[in-house]
Amino acid sequence: MEQSFLIKPMLDESYPVIDYGKGVYLFDMEGKKYFDAASGAVTANIGHGVQEIIEAMNEQAKKVSFVYRSQFTSEAAERLANKIAEMTPGDLNWCFFVNSGSEATETAMKMAIQYWQEKGIQTKTKVLSRWVSYHGITLGALSMSGHPVRRARFTPLLEDFPAIHPPYCYRCPYKLEAPSCGYLCAQELESAINRIGADKIAAFIAEPVIGAAGGAIAPPKDYFKVIKEICEDHNILFIADEVMTGFGRTGTMLACEQWGIVPDIVALGKGMGAGYAPIAAALASEKVMEPILAGTKSVMSGHTLSANPQSCAVSLAVLEYLEKNEIMKEVECKGVYLRNQLEKLKNQFTFIGDVRGKGLLLGLEFVGDRDRKTPFPRKTMITQKIISIAKEKGLLIYPAGAGIDGVNGDSIIISPPLTITKREIEELALLLKESLEALSAHLND
Ligand code: PLP
Repeated sequence: MEQSFLIKPMLDESYPVIDYGKGVYLFDMEGKKYFDAASGAVTANIGHGVQEIIEAMNEQAKKVSFVYRSQFTSEAAERLANKIAEMTPGDLNWCFFVNSGSEATETAMKMAIQYWQEKGIQTKTKVLSRWVSYHGITLGALSMSGHPVRRARFTPLLEDFPAIHPPYCYRCPYKLEAPSCGYLCAQELESAINRIGADKIAAFIAEPVIGAAGGAIAPPKDYFKVIKEICEDHNILFIADEVMTGFGRTGTMLACEQWGIVPDIVALGKGMGAGYAPIAAALASEKVMEPILAGTKSVMSGHTLSANPQSCAVSLAVLEYLEKNEIMKEVECKGVYLRNQLEKLKNQFTFIGDVRGKGLLLGLEFVGDRDRKTPFPRKTMITQKIISIAKEKGLLIYPAGAGIDGVNGDSIIISPPLTITKREIEELALLLKESLEALSAHLND
């Protein structure tokens, strides 16, 4: 390649140039093959190069790619909104399309604040969240994110949105085990509400399975039941950030369904377009929309490209593909098979402290001392090392961990396309084993 003037996240790293993708694989211009065990950034949920999606994209492009959402709607946007309403639990019937996960959580936050305003309550403007969380990169979304590393540079600009402990059972701050712990981390929400005042809080936001900040931390069984009850008791809306977990990643359309919970508002992104087009959404229940429809009539947000027919047609094709091929039904079974392979790796490598997750959103946490759960010193850069060793071997995995209470929380996410086959899971596990062996040799140097 000639000199590139593309600004890359890490200026000192030279990136391979990808030529094409097929299924779980990506191929670069030199012909090197990569196993995409991260679905990019937990996004390419149905794999690369799926013909049906390409055809839907072409068909829509032949008709119209863009109409301005303040003037028109489109068949693709209407059909997608209806399909999402049909496939999600409860009465999450309203859909506001945006272009990224950060826009979706920002919109969810604004919807919650607007809901209270329309009811005549102007003081409920704070959104509570959890440490070890990531809700997006824009300033509103970052204000809700318990991700110390990503917040650090912008702290003076962020809103004062308090956070509670997450259900990080591997490092329980109370040194207890669920369910006998009484879900003390969830009970912290009630203490925070009492401290701050429910009259100041619009909503509580949480990822059903903590992704980038924690490395696939799934909650214990009744955690979200306790959270939802506290929200209802104190008149606070519950926003589920399903940007990473939505569209089938854990085996159900929304991960919240795994615990029988219906949120008031949901943020979707990533898997919605499965990497074929940028699209995301904030969904609202009838309860949330009722005062908005009776008052201002519209959610006070929006972006130029919101609900563009091109992205909507892609997302609709993704949903139809998931449905037609019954992909969500197989996620749990595939997840268990992959998890068993990861558990075997934990038996082999003592620096793997924890194997966790839900469905095909799985994670490994690395520790210097397994018995004491001591993290590696920061300078070891263990996550970065395994990511680059694996990439060298042709395996793509996703880095996670935000750093909390002085604990590094070095982890990786394994989240292959939901279409992965049994044979491909075995191939993934073998590539990961070889990468961990190389890491082990490196640590012993
Ligand atoms: N919310 C969650 C749970 C995420 O994982 C992410 C991205 O990783 C976001 C929000 C932000 O999404 P985007 O990067 O599309 O803005």
